[in-house]
Amino acid sequence: MRIAVEEIPEEGLEVDFGPGDPWAVDATRRALEGEVLALAGHLQVRRVGPGVLVTGRVAARVARACDRCLKDVRLAIEGPLSLWYAGLPEHASEQASLTADALDVGFLEGGELDLGIALTEHLALEGPTVVRCGDPRVEAVEEGACELAAPPDESPGEPRFAVLKDLKLDD
Ligand SMILES: [Zn+2]
Repeated sequence: MRIAVEEIPEEGLEVDFGPGDPWAVDATRRALEGEVLALAGHLQVRRVGPGVLVTGRVAARVARACDRCLKDVRLAIEGPLSLWYAGLPEHASEQASLTADALDVGFLEGGELDLGIALTEHLALEGPTVVRCGDPRVEAVEEGACELAAPPDESPGEPRFAVLKDLKLDD
């Protein structure tokens, strides 16, 4: 959902979203890497000087796999959101745009704010880097201990070492 910064009224803009808003569902799926089960948010978008301040609250719940045991879990992220987007100078050099890209900071490109990107950034920052059963915002839905799934196959018959085993050293 893109918002033209110059069309944001003085008093700001209020945006509500839920599971019926594809831009918000896509952003949540991208950020939390799971199937979206529940989503609710309320945002205030305000112009502050040359930038835009996005504040509000977001609650999201997704179904995904535990990173350790690969069983089904639910990941729930709920809380306040506060993001700041700086305006690029009107006649920004190409260099400035490149720097903004490289730093991955919130800049308003082409005078627009993409709320989907803002939501993705918020959830990606709030969400855990590794999702495991028993972690604070992770709820297990399957029985059983959270143990490492089958380790990668390291069969003893690795061909390169088999050659070494048969090697005879004649001194
Ligand atoms: Zn697990």
